[in-house]
Amino acid sequence: MTLDNHESCADFLDRIVYLLDNELDAAEVAVVKVHLDECAPCFERYDVQRTIKTIVARSCSETAPDALRDRVRVRLQEISIQMHEG
Ligand SMILES: [Zn+2]
Repeated sequence: MTLDNHESCADFLDRIVYLLDNELDAAEVAVVKVHLDECAPCFERYDVQRTIKTIVARSCSETAPDALRDRVRVRLQEISIQMHEG
């Protein structure tokens, strides 16, 4: 059996997303990981998706209260003033 390379990569695109969402069973995870090892373009997509996911997850969990945001802003102003004076 010969697999069309292009078709199989398109196939993995969906599975990469599922993998990141932890929606694949162990057998499928293994298949996708083998492909990622062998296919640089797919690994790159996986890496980009994973990075985006990490950033989104971080910004969602950090619902900074207004008081904290104000404190950060004041601190940033202090730093920038110090930089101007120094
Ligand atoms: Zn691929």
